[in-house]
Amino acid sequence: MRSRFAPSPTGFLHIGGARTGLFSWLQAKAAGGQFVLRIEDTDTERNSAAATEAIIEAMNWLGLDCDEGPFYQSQRLELYKKHVDQLLAEDKAYYCECSKERLDAMREAQMQAKEKPRYDGRCRDLGLSGEAKDGVKPVVRFRNSQQGDVSWKDQVRDEVVISNSELDDLIIWRSDDTPTYNFCVVVDDSDMKITHVLRGEDHINNTPRQINLYEALAKEVPVFAHVPMILGSDGAKLSKRHGALNVMEYKQAGFLPEALVNYLVRLGWSHGDQEIFEMADLIQHFNADNINRAPSAFNPEKLAWLNQHWMKQYSLDKLLQTCKETYPDNALWNMADAELQSGMSLFRERTDTLVAMLEEMAFLVPDSALQMDDPAAELIASEQSNSLLVQLIQGLEAVDDWNAADLDALCKQTAVDAGVKLGALGPAIRIAITGKKQAPSLGDLLMVTGKDLAMRRLRAAVV
Ligand code: GLU
Repeated sequence: MRSRFAPSPTGFLHIGGARTGLFSWLQAKAAGGQFVLRIEDTDTERNSAAATEAIIEAMNWLGLDCDEGPFYQSQRLELYKKHVDQLLAEDKAYYCECSKERLDAMREAQMQAKEKPRYDGRCRDLGLSGEAKDGVKPVVRFRNSQQGDVSWKDQVRDEVVISNSELDDLIIWRSDDTPTYNFCVVVDDSDMKITHVLRGEDHINNTPRQINLYEALAKEVPVFAHVPMILGSDGAKLSKRHGALNVMEYKQAGFLPEALVNYLVRLGWSHGDQEIFEMADLIQHFNADNINRAPSAFNPEKLAWLNQHWMKQYSLDKLLQTCKETYPDNALWNMADAELQSGMSLFRERTDTLVAMLEEMAFLVPDSALQMDDPAAELIASEQSNSLLVQLIQGLEAVDDWNAADLDALCKQTAVDAGVKLGALGPAIRIAITGKKQAPSLGDLLMVTGKDLAMRRLRAAVV
């Protein structure tokens, strides 16, 4: 088993590409095989080195390292040349000098007649040489069979049969002396001994053409799997308005790679009704035959749910290191790791991204200015809050063993002594310490804040 991922570096790695890469990677790993990364960078106008880098960075972040590669098509032109020469020599390909104007006009007429646009084969039997004419070099077309069918057993779509009469003679070499996509893919996949080609369904029309090319080159045809599209929650093609498409934007937004992998793999693949998967499970269970034929819908809530799950699976140490690496400039990093970890253990229970968790923890920075909205400011300034907080402060001053259970009990006792419900004191404490009404249970909150900072904030709140 040798699989590959073959992105064209026209931009960042998007959600759909990442899922294709993940499926291909898993296909190899599940079978103990090799995964090859190939950068399809022959389109110099649309490709960029920055995009190549971004794709590799995102693959690494997801943990999808390759066993071989990255290979660059732009460095393999000689190999393609050798193969096109072979096809020409065997008369399996021919030169075509049809001008752009002629092809455009033909296409236009076919469309008007509601026919499928296709090359009419004008140069097929002219036996043209490769000489340039009026300074324009002829293209090379593949002599596609005009009879019979092409068929393959797709791992996702099962038996697919296409009649050769549907296919025309494909350009495999352009007049600017560069090879075309379908040709390079076949040369590369056979040269790289790829046994399984898994890719997006948008390539399904290329597959019969590629199979004919394999046969013309006397190469073995790989097994194909065409994975359905990912749709937005409204059933439309996934686009920016459904959420970020760039994988690395998820990293910045505070998602963990384990969560994204876990989420992506379930977009179209299942193993019973299991939802939580770690890589080891996936490697054990993944099988492309279980990929769903129907498109799957992107569901941001589920991704968030999985992210929280994975935030809770991380050791506090790893969670902290991940946060520090991802957001190096956060003011929280001046604090001791132990304090931060105790804050994280509390706040990861209440948030589903690293960003949200760190935002919730921002009040822990000793000199941070608390953001209070108007109702919170009003509530805490009331006479009742004031006198309750004064009493609480007196009680807290005497506490030596600063632990959540005792602190919780003390808050409750303060309310009881004042003859009010805890609901009259709790919000005032939370606002005084964090600036917000919603915060964790009082004992936990006081504990992670620490006596020093908690006392300072409470004192500052009373007038
Ligand atoms: N380079 C193609 C793309 O990015 C993929 C080709 C393939 O997987 O065969 O869509």
